[in-house]
Amino acid sequence: MSFSLVTYRTDGEPQLGLLLSDGSVVAPPELKQWAGMLELFDDWGAAAGVLEGLDLSGAPLVAGAALLAPIRFPRKVLCAGINYRKHIREMGGLEPGPSWRPFFFMKPPTTTVVGPADPIVVRDVENARYDWEAELAVVIGTGGRDIPLETARTHIAGYAVANDVTARGYHKRTDVPVDAFVYDWFASKSIDGSLPMGPGITPAFAVADPQALRMRLWVNDELQQDESTADMICTIDELVAAASKIVTLEPGDVICTGTPAGVGAGRGLYLRPGDLVRVAVEGLGEITNPVET
Ligand code: MG
Repeated sequence: MSFSLVTYRTDGEPQLGLLLSDGSVVAPPELKQWAGMLELFDDWGAAAGVLEGLDLSGAPLVAGAALLAPIRFPRKVLCAGINYRKHIREMGGLEPGPSWRPFFFMKPPTTTVVGPADPIVVRDVENARYDWEAELAVVIGTGGRDIPLETARTHIAGYAVANDVTARGYHKRTDVPVDAFVYDWFASKSIDGSLPMGPGITPAFAVADPQALRMRLWVNDELQQDESTADMICTIDELVAAASKIVTLEPGDVICTGTPAGVGAGRGLYLRPGDLVRVAVEGLGEITNPVET
């Protein structure tokens, strides 16, 4: 049976569990050996084997489980900048040539990562112009530095759905004295609660081809993004290898792999309080986050 790893709460401390494809949450006793998701990824070599061998037929069902962000909290959250071919075109650019190297920015892990049903809290809405970005999030199992492209896939523990919420209005400044400071990635990408993620982390061994997953995003049930991860410019493996040339990747680190075409910015659309944003990635489930002030 397919499942994803979740962090849930009933009335006490957050617990590790599994979200099954029918929407139920179970808590197999085998998961109790890890205090939380980060500890599980710290022990990924052993954990992967335990998860692959699980017999869920007698796993206790958890009633009334509220899903939290699956990993609380990643040590790092890296996000790939522009990484889908059609998204470049909608943003007014041309597809990069063969010498293109991916670039990354970071989101503060403890304050941006929120759960699959948590609100996207917005402030200063008209100036900030919050936009949506459906993304496939990669979670690192085995860390490393200078990871070769050929073995990059073996460092991935799992995949999740993410929304790299972006304050477009804060991204470009017109009041700076020199060009180096024109783009304010921090202000546009680091806002509290700007990385809804979940519903769980699907182990990599259960995802046959992460470069062939349909991803969709709706705002108020209106489809805005609908693309395959096959449209990525740099593959997941290339992103892992490239990121590890800059930083040491650690267990539980999250790499968001870029968003496809269909963001609001290209059409002058932005999120407003009362909106409901739903993101689904084939085989990984979906997240639904209300926009609130
Ligand atoms: Mg993004």
